[in-house]
Amino acid sequence: MTLPTLIPASKLPNVGTTIFAIMSGLANEHDAVNLSQGFPDFLCSEKLIELVSRAMRDGKNQYAPMPGDPILRQRISQKVEKLYNLNIDPNSEITITAGGTQALFTALGAFVHPGDEVIIIEPAYDSYKPSIELFGGKAIPYALMAPDYEINWAELEKLISPATRILMFNNPQNPTGQVFSANDIAALRQIIIKHNLLLISDEVYEHLTFDGLQHESVLKYPDLYERSMVIFSFGKTYHNTGWKIGYCIAPAELTKEFRKVHQFNVFSANTPVQSAYADFMLDENEYLKLPNFYQTKRDYLLQSMHGSAFKPLVCKGSYFQLFDYSNISDMNDVEFCKWLIINHGVAAIPLSVFYTNPPDDRVIRLCFAKKEHTLRMAADRLKDIILM
Ligand code: PMP
Ligand code: GLN
Repeated sequence: MTLPTLIPASKLPNVGTTIFAIMSGLANEHDAVNLSQGFPDFLCSEKLIELVSRAMRDGKNQYAPMPGDPILRQRISQKVEKLYNLNIDPNSEITITAGGTQALFTALGAFVHPGDEVIIIEPAYDSYKPSIELFGGKAIPYALMAPDYEINWAELEKLISPATRILMFNNPQNPTGQVFSANDIAALRQIIIKHNLLLISDEVYEHLTFDGLQHESVLKYPDLYERSMVIFSFGKTYHNTGWKIGYCIAPAELTKEFRKVHQFNVFSANTPVQSAYADFMLDENEYLKLPNFYQTKRDYLLQSMHGSAFKPLVCKGSYFQLFDYSNISDMNDVEFCKWLIINHGVAAIPLSVFYTNPPDDRVIRLCFAKKEHTLRMAADRLKDIILM
């Protein structure tokens, strides 16, 4: 007789441990330079740390209001008005979350019904697909292809079926470093309106666009915003990914549903950090300087890698630079990344893990949100690897 198992069937049978935990874990184990998981290795502003400490000492240590610190929401609405010329109501259109990942999860939780199809653009941030599936939805991938990672909107539109409810869009894009243009947004807008879809626009890298490119936020397009939940992350903007604070901007009707889930997901996010960000946001220079700051890092990495056997792809934004290693090895990218850590002491992220049906490319992602010393050390090691 077989006994019934005590463990119910997995809701995510095909999901293992996220690549970020695997690669950062391996990097630590082998004392490798870690350019895999996307996080800065430099300190965030001392002033911001002081503001958090002060908020704690001032007694801001209990639950924040469910939608978030009201002053922080007000400052966000001022920023949105200034940058994107959109007037939003801080009370009914902004919700502070425990990071961008929670905001994405909550947005999907609020609107995905069993059997719904959600279009995702791959290679995609690895939380998208499992989050859709946990709510009974089906992720329908559209694949961006090397070396340009452009969207053919007519091809993407063919994926829309009567079951399609949501499209997820990420701009600037992780992991490709692609920055989509005003023409892309025009095509996106046409599709969303024509097919009556909801848009989840992941804009956590809003300030990380290079070479004079402007970020085309969905918030710049009022008739698109009407159908959108737009997600941001303070961790990316202020160099403290471990503080896990983000926010979702959405029209009142959508926010109402978003908060129904949010209140039972986390209820509210970290109080002293919200209070500190509210003060810190007054200095707009802190985010206006970011394109320059990160472009300098991208260029430093590219210069340091000059003459290596790795071929850089175009990086227009985000803090990730892709490299093609087909001149070095035939190994698949996951094996190659493990080999890199163990034999050359540098950790990278394989691109194939972000695809449902990975193309047969030899491309890895390096994070350049690092000190120059770290980038130089990684580049020196990578340059030692010679052609096949
Ligand atoms: N979206 C994308 C595209 C990301 O790269 C990340 C990475 N951190 C997130 C969302 C999540 O942000 P957070 O760290 O605030 O959860
Ligand atoms: N977004 C980060 C990256 O792409 C990692 C976030 C995470 O570890 N979940 O590297």
